[in-house]
Amino acid sequence: MEKQFKSGFVTLIGRPNVGKSTLLNDIVGEKVSIVSDKIQTTRNRIHGIVTDEESQVVFVDTPGVHKPKHELGDRMVHTSLQTLRDVDIVLFLINAEEGFGRGDEFIINKMKELNIPVILVINKIDLVHPDELLPLIASYNEKMDFAETVPISALNGNNVDTLYELIKSYLPEGPQFYHEDDKTDRTLQFQMAEIIREKVLILTEEEIPHSVHVVIESVEEKNNKTHIHALIITERPSQKGILIGKGGSMLKDIGIQARKELEQLLQNKVNLQLWIKVSKDWRNRRGLLEQYGFELD
Ligand code: GDP
Ligand code: MG
Repeated sequence: MEKQFKSGFVTLIGRPNVGKSTLLNDIVGEKVSIVSDKIQTTRNRIHGIVTDEESQVVFVDTPGVHKPKHELGDRMVHTSLQTLRDVDIVLFLINAEEGFGRGDEFIINKMKELNIPVILVINKIDLVHPDELLPLIASYNEKMDFAETVPISALNGNNVDTLYELIKSYLPEGPQFYHEDDKTDRTLQFQMAEIIREKVLILTEEEIPHSVHVVIESVEEKNNKTHIHALIITERPSQKGILIGKGGSMLKDIGIQARKELEQLLQNKVNLQLWIKVSKDWRNRRGLLEQYGFELD
């Protein structure tokens, strides 16, 4: 008899900065979710898709679970917890370098209400001595019954294949949800805006990263080049000044780094025009959040 196709949704959940997006990109083999050392890099629910002959795994990347300070933060935590309800497997990521925290407690209590396998993924093992792993594994397994515990390093790919095979062994029989060539459910425009936002996150400090949103205004093919106009939206005029930088240097750096990656994404030469716009307090304005594509109730 022919083997049945297997498929399922697998969510990545955990505190901000534990490496959820890094792991997703590693498994999918393409950058579908941006990464930085700033917390709250991921703002939306993003699907990363892996298809082979016998299965399709749809990974659901989520914003980290944190204490929200504004309407956007509130939506982000809601989005993260919401995904727990509609998936087949949960990957609960923790940072090997940090111990058990209150954020973990909160997530574990939510996961205990579920009737699906939860795999404990201990990430960033490249940062700790192997002897530190056993007590860490023990302390987490006291809190909850995990289906599996897998130590990995998402950054250098260590043990990620093992994790993927393990995930496959928990998949139920099911249909192929996405085309076999699809790597993400997000539009190309979303990916372009995220690449630009990632460069802002990497190049700026303190309040700037979190106050920024990017909108793609237009994309046009002309003379064998892709011409992209994008708006970097920020909350205050002072932030606009920082984003432009001395003699325009910051905006120039953002543009150069983003263009390189956009050219990879689009497989074409890119002409990138960046503009900065101040939109006062956009993170607390429901109308703007909706316009910018965040999921509201
Ligand atoms: P997220 O907020 O959980 O999605 O975390 P990110 O994927 O954005 O990663 C946060 C930071 O941790 C980034 O600077 C990553 O490069 C870093 N990181 C992720 N995985 C690892 C890992 O396995 N080892 C180390 N050393 N750093 C990692
Ligand atoms: Mg992330």
